[in-house]
Amino acid sequence: MSEVNLSLEEADALVMRVLRANGCDEANARAVADTVMAAERDVCHSHGIFRIPGYVASLKSGKVNGAGSPTVSKIAPSVLRVDGDGAFAPLALERGRQPLIDLAREQGIAALAIRDIYHFAALWVEVEAIADAGLAAFAWTAASPMVAPAGGFKPLFGTNPMSFGWPRKNAPPMVFDQASAAMARGEIMILSRDGKEAPPGTGIDSEGNPTTDPDAILAGAQLPFGGYKGSAIAMMIELLAGALIGENLSFEAGEQDNRDGGPPRGGELMIAIDPNRFGDPDGWLDHGEKLFERMLAEEGLRLPGGRRHVNRTKTPDGGIHVPQALYDKVCALEE
Ligand code: NDP
Repeated sequence: MSEVNLSLEEADALVMRVLRANGCDEANARAVADTVMAAERDVCHSHGIFRIPGYVASLKSGKVNGAGSPTVSKIAPSVLRVDGDGAFAPLALERGRQPLIDLAREQGIAALAIRDIYHFAALWVEVEAIADAGLAAFAWTAASPMVAPAGGFKPLFGTNPMSFGWPRKNAPPMVFDQASAAMARGEIMILSRDGKEAPPGTGIDSEGNPTTDPDAILAGAQLPFGGYKGSAIAMMIELLAGALIGENLSFEAGEQDNRDGGPPRGGELMIAIDPNRFGDPDGWLDHGEKLFERMLAEEGLRLPGGRRHVNRTKTPDGGIHVPQALYDKVCALEE
């Protein structure tokens, strides 16, 4: 597959131009571009430039408000709400971040309930920013119906990712970020694009038969990771990022969506915890490091997020690599 090699600056400028040309104001374009470029920098292609055609489709169809101005309010002593104003998620997250950090430091624990947003990104970007401030953090978001609950074959749950971050001593925070589907949908789309098969257990066709054909899975249903255990986590995320905060469940988002190829309307719940306000303010950091040291003492073992951090150190010199066909498609969206 032929590729185009771009510096981070060149790629960022392209993404900004395309978003601005299609109706994002400067603040929204900047926030989305920062999220997309973080994914490219860490070599998480399924949430990088690959997503730009979907972002643009939702701007063009009028589903997403490219000039949305999210607002933050306090709805309980330790609960903040962001009304996303129908924009893409990154600006709502950006505006809610510092208030969440401040409230978690004040209260020990605080939540951010984000509504009326369109989430099309990886969660680690937002969780890492909170863990960088010295807090432990969770994030959950639902999506549109793509995953069959364990025992069923009709798509009902979203791929519903969950991310958790923990600050580290003299190292970037440990952040895991995983879909509750066996494989994120973007990864299956990339397998389809590249003509590759999906691993067994990724999904079923529309008749409910197991298949490794990515197109049959996209038309049928994805499966949760770990059978009924992953199914329970996907269900929990529906409740936390939907029912709890007054936003769509994935199947409701699917019913409302205009199928323009971009993200469905939904919500997100984040929780931030100040470890200095819990039981071991002087010891928690070293105590956590003991766990990581013990884990890393075993050869071949790495921490979640470690792959990204290695990639991050290499990208500034090597730039990023975008498939030629994707590059051409994105450039055409600038016109
Ligand atoms: P992966 O299965 O690729 O990775 C899940 C986690 O496991 C990552 O933190 C990863 O860290 C870690 N990991 C992978 N391999 C190892 C290993 N050998 N040892 C230790 N840790 C490991 O991610 P998914 O495919 O489940 O999800 C991909 C992305 O899709 C996520 O960022 C998620 O937020 C996003 N997503 C977004 C949705 C939305 O609606 N916005 C919906 C669904 C998913 P590392 O990165 O370092 O490999």
